[in-house]
Amino acid sequence: MEYDLVFLNGRVINPETNFDAIRSIGIIDGTIASISENILKGKIELDISNLIICPGFIDVHSHAHTDEYYKLKCQDGVTSVFELEIGTNDIDQWYAERESKTLINYGVAIGHIPARMKVFNHPPAFVPQSDSPAALQTDKIDQIKKEIEYGLRRGAMAVGFGIHYVSGATRWEIVECFRLAKKYNVCCHVHMRYFGAQEKNGSLAALQEVLALGACTRAAINVCHLHSTCLSVTDKALELLHDARKNGMDITTEFYPYMAGCSDINSALFNDDLWQEQLGISYDSLTYVNTGERLDAISFAKYRKEGGLILINSVPEQAVIDCLQSPITLMGSDALRGHPRAAGACARVLGHYVRERGIITLMEAIRKMSLLPAQILESASSQMKTRGRICEGATADLCIFDPMTIKDCATYEQPKLPSQGIIHVLVNGRFVVRDGKLVIMDKNTKPPGQAIRGVIRD
Ligand SMILES: [Zn+2]
Repeated sequence: MEYDLVFLNGRVINPETNFDAIRSIGIIDGTIASISENILKGKIELDISNLIICPGFIDVHSHAHTDEYYKLKCQDGVTSVFELEIGTNDIDQWYAERESKTLINYGVAIGHIPARMKVFNHPPAFVPQSDSPAALQTDKIDQIKKEIEYGLRRGAMAVGFGIHYVSGATRWEIVECFRLAKKYNVCCHVHMRYFGAQEKNGSLAALQEVLALGACTRAAINVCHLHSTCLSVTDKALELLHDARKNGMDITTEFYPYMAGCSDINSALFNDDLWQEQLGISYDSLTYVNTGERLDAISFAKYRKEGGLILINSVPEQAVIDCLQSPITLMGSDALRGHPRAAGACARVLGHYVRERGIITLMEAIRKMSLLPAQILESASSQMKTRGRICEGATADLCIFDPMTIKDCATYEQPKLPSQGIIHVLVNGRFVVRDGKLVIMDKNTKPPGQAIRGVIRD
């Protein structure tokens, strides 16, 4: 038997079965055909002694869906990347823009925020302006529902929410949208209504809204970036989530391995004059990405009129550690221009938190970046059932890295530096990173990334 491609003597880590042993892997037609203790024969054979071979990483939370960021993702070991929080209001167009053009697999949610922006005629934007009708108005629920249902019928992978950005969205509006997610059997990815550790209008009150929605509608839920929303009460939020799961709720949560959040200065997050108290910070904890300057009351007011991204230095490291150590968290990078999480999140987990600090095991880290994200997407698309694991019959989306050298290089000053120590990355059986270098495809070669999309209903 001759395989298309054989990796010899790699340390295979498969979180689905807790398998961790030296094996050789044979690939045919983009699929793992054999995992063997014996030496396999291939048209291409690569010895990967001393390297780890694991499922390619799956990032459910990225806002950076351009060629430039797909390349950085490849170099961070990611083989499938999704926009499931903000999402889009045009599923067909979003997929059409990427068809046959991407190095890695991609997918998107129908977004509650973009649906609102469409219904209230907001100009194209990441999130609505803080004082716009799309953020503040409370009517037009039926039209918003219609947009969301249409997106679900066009194969959306989830329903995305950023409730904090649209305070006009009533609790009832959110109930109705969760019901739609349940009807089409996809997960709700939720950036919650409030942030911070305060009792009144804080993150625990927001989490209780989400938990009630899950209990009543039975929709599956993934709570976005728990650490940057809950800050010093992240441990309490995790306790509630663990209890909810124990009591049968289909709920997970997500974090990224950094202590600064990132968002638009012009968004509704800062509408409430209480944001400093809620986040436990002041202006000088905000960095304006375009200029790199730390803000004060005057520059904050000026840039709030102009718009633009800011880094919010608010997250205690214990919140990141609590998330790393919870069995129900997955790593979602929340990739956004101007923040190192867009380029280095996976390598940072493996280099900094696994190797250097020993906060979690390699197996757990890999599970959070492959199997768990695949599992929450399986009900939306069967394409995820063969991803996020290494077994015979699985899609050959693979990451091969050196556990001794893997390292994130991106910083707040230089957020686009690619990670190091990722040696080979395969997407659908084809190399996108080989021998530590991005594979350059010539113009006539169709890159290997595929659309990951739900069922299309006419
Ligand atoms: Zn968010």
